Amino acid sequence: MNIILFGAPGAGKGTQATRLVDQRGMVQLSTGDMLRAAVSAGTDLGVRAKAIMDRGDLVSDDIILGMIVERMDSPDCAQGVILDGFPRTVAQANGLDEMLQARNWSLDHVIEIQVDEAALFARIENRAAETGQVREDDNAETLRKRLDVYHESTAPLLPFYSDKGLLRAVDGMAGIEEVGRQIDGILG
Ligand code: ADP
Repeated sequence: MNIILFGAPGAGKGTQATRLVDQRGMVQLSTGDMLRAAVSAGTDLGVRAKAIMDRGDLVSDDIILGMIVERMDSPDCAQGVILDGFPRTVAQANGLDEMLQARNWSLDHVIEIQVDEAALFARIENRAAETGQVREDDNAETLRKRLDVYHESTAPLLPFYSDKGLLRAVDGMAGIEEVGRQIDGILG
């Protein structure tokens, strides 16, 4: 089973992906985590990506698609993956379609975690307080920018997947366990 967890920055995609990994042994592909790993490792890609991420912009579609193709072809992904933070643009979604078709894989569900944007600002502050680590893109100014980018470039994927009959929504304002139950209800 291949699924996309979809939602605005801070919607809880990573939290729910981790839950699915723990409970169902699914494999999570998070482009945000991959990019942060590249930044920590100080690779060329990491150096280029860091400035883009820190200002809340999107890393180029070519780089993202390249990262995903490479990862998807590792054996552990053959049983299916949770895509978290990808695709984020229509070009990425088309690239994903081609990738899946070429491998005869299907996309089973696109789960939108719906949230109230005002609440996201409080969450981002909590995330910094709870983890004791401040991600450089976790501040109100960058979040504003990331939300703008989300509306402009990523939200158009909602009609894209709804037209394909794949889109399902869960209430991301509910507690973590309840959101998890709603997702379980969709995945069966
Ligand atoms: P969040 O889950 O909080 O929305 P992520 O950790 O997924 O954030 O991503 C952090 C940053 O990494 C993004 O703001 C963007 O700069 C970059 N990034 C992650 N995934 C993608 C993607 N699919 N396309 C372009 N840029 C991406």
